[in-house]
Amino acid sequence: MARLDVETSNQLFEVLGQWSVTLEENSRRSDGGGPCPKPYAGYVESPGLGVSRREGQHQAIVSYADFQRVQDRLDGKLHTPYRKNINDDFALLGFVVCAECQAPLRSCWSTGRHGKRHPYYLCQTGACASYGKSIKRDVIEGEFETLLSTLAPSEALLRAARLMLKDLWDHRLSIFAAQTKALRARLADIEKDVSQYLERILDASLPSVVQAIEARIGKLEKEKVEVKEMMSVSSMPASSFDDVARTALQFLANPLNLWRSERLEDRRTVLKLAFLDRLEYMRGEGYRTASLSLPFKVLGDLKKGKSGLARPRGVEPLSAP
Ligand SMILES: [Zn+2]
Repeated sequence: MARLDVETSNQLFEVLGQWSVTLEENSRRSDGGGPCPKPYAGYVESPGLGVSRREGQHQAIVSYADFQRVQDRLDGKLHTPYRKNINDDFALLGFVVCAECQAPLRSCWSTGRHGKRHPYYLCQTGACASYGKSIKRDVIEGEFETLLSTLAPSEALLRAARLMLKDLWDHRLSIFAAQTKALRARLADIEKDVSQYLERILDASLPSVVQAIEARIGKLEKEKVEVKEMMSVSSMPASSFDDVARTALQFLANPLNLWRSERLEDRRTVLKLAFLDRLEYMRGEGYRTASLSLPFKVLGDLKKGKSGLARPRGVEPLSAP
């Protein structure tokens, strides 16, 4: 069984962290807001203490851009009043493309004989073989629900995945700890060497010897700066596993739940989180293979047993960046 490499597991944690932020932001909007803790984005600030926003000492769980976007939203800067328009009745609009011509499907209402209106999706590319052939909204959205429900893992699989993720997280913490320890030890060695060389300069009388010692000290000082730089980028993650993954895992457990909330924003969030790309739909056949976002892809691979989330063994050796 292949192991999930360090890079993929780091990406996975990054994605899950972003999911949690997005989902929590989303549910706050539907709750009408309220006080909330600010997610850590690698920056610290404390207006009360006169500390302006500056780089923090810990690894960020969300990018600064995402953090700022959420803050702006909470501060009301990006608040756009919810306005119902025609597209609200077609949640998949812009997200599902015609499998034949790759153009996004459009929406339309047709009025039946008795004046009742019926919603449809259809391709409107003139040259396409599917041009004008309508697909009932219930059909295409119903098949989408089926697709979403196939993404939901079994309870046992989800429990196993959660345990493995927790292991990977702890493994990552132990790597951070080992790296920090090794870097701190190297820093102490450098400082000791520098002071010894300084003493030798005092005893040296030949200019060539003094020059050689000075060169050594210069090299050590340079390495000291590099080690300090490495220490600043490899510090411990600021959040706990639960902070990063709890909300994301709830969504992962059942994406259909959020879809069924029927708020357009929730539905858009589902599309954004679950898929990497737009879905192709072929009338009369259904959806083509979807390209899933990393967490669902990892779960799928795990289900097939071909990957990847194996328990890490021991701490990896320190390597220079
Ligand atoms: Zn088409």
